[in-house]
Amino acid sequence: MAGETTESFDRLVGEFKKLPGIGGRTAERLAYHVLRAGKDEAMALAYAIRDVKKNMRNCRECYNLTEGEVCSICADARRDRSVICVVEQPKDIWALEKTGAYRGLYHVLLGRLAPLEDMGPENLTVDELVKRVEKGGVREVILATNPNLEGDGTAAYTREKLAGMNVSVTRIARGMPAGSSIEFANTNILQDALSGRREMDR
Ligand SMILES: [Zn+2]
Repeated sequence: MAGETTESFDRLVGEFKKLPGIGGRTAERLAYHVLRAGKDEAMALAYAIRDVKKNMRNCRECYNLTEGEVCSICADARRDRSVICVVEQPKDIWALEKTGAYRGLYHVLLGRLAPLEDMGPENLTVDELVKRVEKGGVREVILATNPNLEGDGTAAYTREKLAGMNVSVTRIARGMPAGSSIEFANTNILQDALSGRREMDR
């Protein structure tokens, strides 16, 4: 019996350790917490994880996370459909929405070009972005990938793919410290980055 318990416990510690920012000691503390918690509380965690994986998917228009076919931003008739803001991850949308300064649509690339991690163009949704622009009605694409080496490279690649299309392509302003990320930038800095965006040269 004791051996079985240890094996299950070690497995739980091992799963916690895979989470970002969780070291071995914290993983053990979390596992002990689950062990001591009531069955309902512990299973609520397990069910929450299961439901997120079962119910959440990518919006078929913009690849934001949603529980339906289309996300709440794409479904909102008040949004300006002539502007598309391109970001790396859904969590960047949440950061930009907090500024309240942007009323257009988004497009989530689902990553950035990172050759060292084998993340190439085929892993991103750039082709889907091009198709959205081809459908017409879009006058500006704002490239809001992170202001670091990989984000800049991804912006340059996307810019190239949109070349020759009848659309203005802009890049968010450099107000953000180089190497920082949209996800963790504060609201004022993001507002400035958006309002200070500039036409991107090829
Ligand atoms: Zn959407």
